[in-house]
Amino acid sequence: SPTVGVLALQGDVREHAALLAELGAEVVLVRRPEELDAIDGLVLPGGESSVIDKLARLFGLQQPIRAAIRAGMPMYGTCAGLILLADTVLDAIEGQQSFGGLDVDVRRNAFGRQSESFEIDLDVPVLGDAPVSATFIRAPIVERSGAAVEMLAALPDGAVVAVRQGPLLGTSFHPEMDGEPGFHALFLDEARRYASAPR
Ligand code: GLN
Repeated sequence: SPTVGVLALQGDVREHAALLAELGAEVVLVRRPEELDAIDGLVLPGGESSVIDKLARLFGLQQPIRAAIRAGMPMYGTCAGLILLADTVLDAIEGQQSFGGLDVDVRRNAFGRQSESFEIDLDVPVLGDAPVSATFIRAPIVERSGAAVEMLAALPDGAVVAVRQGPLLGTSFHPEMDGEPGFHALFLDEARRYASAPR
């Protein structure tokens, strides 16, 4: 079973760790750069992207995480985590940075007050025929994506809410809160592949 990390600076770290452990992974909570050396994949949790960004820079994690992304380490970002993986963040807080890696423009807090949070069943063909229940909380959407980016799910109005680019996976919503294992299982497949690749 692969050893994977959950970036544990802020956000719904425990829900991710629990779901990954249920799927058979060894889980490390990552707060220091050297902890990246021991893992084959990293989950960036939901929370507040501007806070996680600030703490990551404070803890000296921003550059090492960027280097891990460049080296091909699989990563899965949910909500704030998707924002952190985006090359471009729209409606960012002043000075907010991302790790980047996904060739997308992501808009923070893309839903109005009326729909700050909601739950909906999504079609996610890459996970099979069964609908996936998805919880959105002050969620972002993907407004532009480059040619290398695969769209994995969209809302009925067409807004893109799940993407993949090579070993990087991002969802606007929170499968870890609904106990929906599909995306985490995809991530662990990538982590297993990365673990066994020569490097
Ligand atoms: N609005 C948050 C942000 O900008 C994301 C919300 C979430 O992760 N549930 O980071």
